[in-house]
Amino acid sequence: MKTIVLKFGGTSVGTINKIKTVAKIIADYKKKKFRVIVVSSAMSGVTNELVKKSKAISKNFSNAEYDVLVSSGEQVACSLIAGRLIHLGYKARSWLAWQIPILTHGEHKNSRIYDVNKKKIFSYLKNGGVPIVTGFQGINEYERVSTIGRGGSDASAILLAKFFKAQRCIIYTDVEGVYTTDPNKLSKAKKIKEISYEEMLEMASLGAKVMQPASIQDARLNRINIEVKSSYVKKSGTLITKRKNIINNRIITGISSTHNDAKVSLIGVKDKPGVAASIFKPLSKNSINVDMVVQNISANGRETDLTFTIKAEDLKKTQKIIKTNKNIKFRKLLLKKDVSKISIIGVGMVTTPGVTFRMFQTLAKKKINIQVISTSEIKISVLIDKKNIKKALIALHKEFKLDN
Ligand code: ADP
Ligand code: ASP
Ligand code: MG
Repeated sequence: MKTIVLKFGGTSVGTINKIKTVAKIIADYKKKKFRVIVVSSAMSGVTNELVKKSKAISKNFSNAEYDVLVSSGEQVACSLIAGRLIHLGYKARSWLAWQIPILTHGEHKNSRIYDVNKKKIFSYLKNGGVPIVTGFQGINEYERVSTIGRGGSDASAILLAKFFKAQRCIIYTDVEGVYTTDPNKLSKAKKIKEISYEEMLEMASLGAKVMQPASIQDARLNRINIEVKSSYVKKSGTLITKRKNIINNRIITGISSTHNDAKVSLIGVKDKPGVAASIFKPLSKNSINVDMVVQNISANGRETDLTFTIKAEDLKKTQKIIKTNKNIKFRKLLLKKDVSKISIIGVGMVTTPGVTFRMFQTLAKKKINIQVISTSEIKISVLIDKKNIKKALIALHKEFKLDN
């Protein structure tokens, strides 16, 4: 008998009616004689509400308690799905991650799953049961509930597929698959039939919320094919797989963007070895993620300007850390909110010259100023004013023939 993992995201289980639909999807696979493992996220909006509550109780809410709190939404969704399947005459039950257990290590809020105990689930499957497993959570070496980062149910599903050697892992969501760019932001976005792990990882890390970045790393390491599709309409979705399996001649596969970045510039920094480290060390200690970085060559060999980007929500904290940093000297500190990063992604750019030029020219024609640039083998990112994001997205989508 073939095993299949089905993951349902927040919107897919967002209402009672949607949960009824989900139960039907699951039942269809049972009828086709699959061994089905279900992973569910919390009903949409629930996790956000719980995060809000943690902030309202305390500005320094304990990370361990945060995990207990925010993981509770999954429990509700799983019991409702199981309840509906039982109502339909199937053998089903909810499994909280600690009951299996799904083992994690690492820090609270951002743990990683490293093992799944197979025994109980195996015997439950053998006896014809449908386990409905809570995504997003695990249990750590101190027997405390842990969570694996926002959007983490994707990783839960992929790792269950790995440990149970599932034939397929299907991520059911509120769009029909992975698109050339967020279809809720650009109506011209097109569904991508197949995409490589590398491209999906870049798209997700650069803002495409449809898959959690860490989950794609897990899938790539374990060579797990993922199908992303809609829980509303019966249509084929997107296959995320290894590069070798894909034939296409596109230069750019997709475009991602972020929306809440901020830019920090230190003007007239004393230029000496170790200065960048002195700036970034206290930021990293305070868990502030620095993204793009540029340092100008100093004209006089004594002073330089350094610019980097962070999440807008970290701006105040960053400003304070820099101002109180006794190890650095600079003349001026410039802070800018309302900047966004837009990135073009595609393995095709490796073998195609002139992609960078085409991107810059397209933006120039639209009079969009580029503030910071960063590149890797398969992506080019630029920082622009947030107000220009839509204009840039439309122009780049057209330029790289993604509209067709
Ligand atoms: P779920 O709750 O099912 O996990 P998410 O909200 O996490 O769903 O992810 C789905 C959303 O991702 C879509 O509604 C869409 O707005 C957004 N998204 C962003 N970029 C893309 C993209 N390139 N392709 C498809 N969806 C995208
Ligand atoms: N419910 C969790 C979140 O909102 C996990 C997930 O959706 O995958 O982040
Ligand atoms: Mg998600």
